[in-house]
Amino acid sequence: MIDLKNLTIKKAHEDIKSGKYSAVDLTKAYLEEIKKKNPEINAYLEVFKDAEEQAQAADTRFKAGAATLLTGIPFAIKDNILIKGRRAGSASKILENYHATYDATVIEKLKREGAVFIGRTNMDEFAMGGSTENSAYGVTKNPYDTERVAGGSSGGSAAALAMDGALAALGSDTGGSIRQPASFCGLVGLKATYGAVSRNGVMAMGSSLDQIGPFAKTVTDAEIIFNTIKGNDSLDSTTISDTTYKTKKTDKKLTIGIPKAFLKGDGINKDVLKNFEESIENFKKLGYEIKDVELPNIAYSLPVYYVIMPAEVSSNLSRFDGVRFGLHKDGKDGIDDYFETRGAGFGKEVRRRVLLGTYILSSGYYDAYYNRANALRRVITSDFETAFKTVDIILTPTTPAPAFKIGEKISDPVAMYLEDIFTVTANLTGMPAISIPSGVSGKLPLGIQMTALHGNEALLFKAGKEFLKE
Ligand code: GLN
Repeated sequence: MIDLKNLTIKKAHEDIKSGKYSAVDLTKAYLEEIKKKNPEINAYLEVFKDAEEQAQAADTRFKAGAATLLTGIPFAIKDNILIKGRRAGSASKILENYHATYDATVIEKLKREGAVFIGRTNMDEFAMGGSTENSAYGVTKNPYDTERVAGGSSGGSAAALAMDGALAALGSDTGGSIRQPASFCGLVGLKATYGAVSRNGVMAMGSSLDQIGPFAKTVTDAEIIFNTIKGNDSLDSTTISDTTYKTKKTDKKLTIGIPKAFLKGDGINKDVLKNFEESIENFKKLGYEIKDVELPNIAYSLPVYYVIMPAEVSSNLSRFDGVRFGLHKDGKDGIDDYFETRGAGFGKEVRRRVLLGTYILSSGYYDAYYNRANALRRVITSDFETAFKTVDIILTPTTPAPAFKIGEKISDPVAMYLEDIFTVTANLTGMPAISIPSGVSGKLPLGIQMTALHGNEALLFKAGKEFLKE
């Protein structure tokens, strides 16, 4: 029996290398867990039939002495990331039966290392939501408490890991979709610097906000995955050069900033606040200096995000017209075909955001909403840049409360949007942010979020490892 609960990428690599078990054994062990747990948890939309074959190829590579750290490591992949020849649908009816015609750059990179793809995971439709309740294929339940959500939108990837249905996973994060489910499921989740990881082959939600990133059980594992998937890519012109990441490692004790004024609201759960205070004490014990920081405009982050994001959503999703791929419904004429197809293929939340975004971008409102939101986005970013002159990391809780009950927020979009209060800023500013497990509220995991200046993932990894004593 492989102890999946305590397994990490490094440990699995050493075990396979020393012949303790094979990559095939490892994949089989995960497939066993999936068989037992997925019918209830609904983390996977599809488990790939050739997973064992992929693991066999990994074993061959081990035997040839050509294995790297990710060879034979079982990955769960969010349903909006393309793997050539396989179904990919962003958990939407409109992409039913769509098969990817190419590999996303991140997938190509993982394939090069010989990673094993176990299956594709559930999500909120087109990554819009914080609970997977917007999936066309049912909700993903939280393995820690099946009456609760696993978070979203990458809830399937998080739950897959938390139920021991994979050793690592990829998600996408436009406003918190990796970090929030990571915190709900007791995992590490990273949203890297905008442009660090190629977006080629991820279905776009908000193109100026989207990043693909890892879910892992340890910061060390998240770092291994990040180092593999990052890098300049000619297929995504917003990617930045690798040299950005060369010089940032440091041995000095870091300074952590706390935006105290932002944490005063009564919307934050008291266990979350208590755990946050304890986490600060832990950092102090580790020798970190703690400082108060001012982020005067941070309260505008959420409204700014909920203007910019739907504007980009409405434009990105206009390509789904049912002409070539997925669902198609006939109408009276060509235009009517679109109405019929999009009306039937998109769920309620997607339609809400497309409508909102179209309104925001329409003439007369463009200046009033979109341009003003963009101006504020710049102001929020410069507030952060100013704060980072005196601190290395800014610390907040990842979410205002632990995992909520299934059904609790689904009929109240604003309550659902408030989930994202701490996470959207990193997407607006383009700065890297990581959520790490920081404790529990009853049986529910809690997480804290650390943000750093562009290109400073190394600081997040260092502080994260020290905090978790890795
Ligand atoms: N919960 C946020 C939203 O609904 C974040 C989504 C995301 O990061 N993909 O927009």
